[in-house]
Amino acid sequence: MAWEWSHTPEAYENARENLKALPFHDLCVIAAEWDADEVDGFNHELYTQKFKEYEASGRVSTTILWNKIKKQRTCDNGGFNAWVCPYGCHTVPFDAIAD
Ligand SMILES: [Zn+2]
Repeated sequence: MAWEWSHTPEAYENARENLKALPFHDLCVIAAEWDADEVDGFNHELYTQKFKEYEASGRVSTTILWNKIKKQRTCDNGGFNAWVCPYGCHTVPFDAIAD
């Protein structure tokens, strides 16, 4: 079961920073998952194509990702981690990660 966001602005800022701190490979997977998430289900072919594109380009926009994440407003049961992909297989904590 997933919950809807009901956190402080600071928590969202933390989550956004934690998203930016993810390894590039993870960001490619997450971005491709969003692209492949279609009305009638997950498009595996598109996912593979998009993942390769992101990897080759060497860049994933966390601003675009965050806009999608913000719109979805979903977190795990308990509210500790924000879903950063459509399926909840990728999450980031709402707490600041000390570096
Ligand atoms: Zn995922």
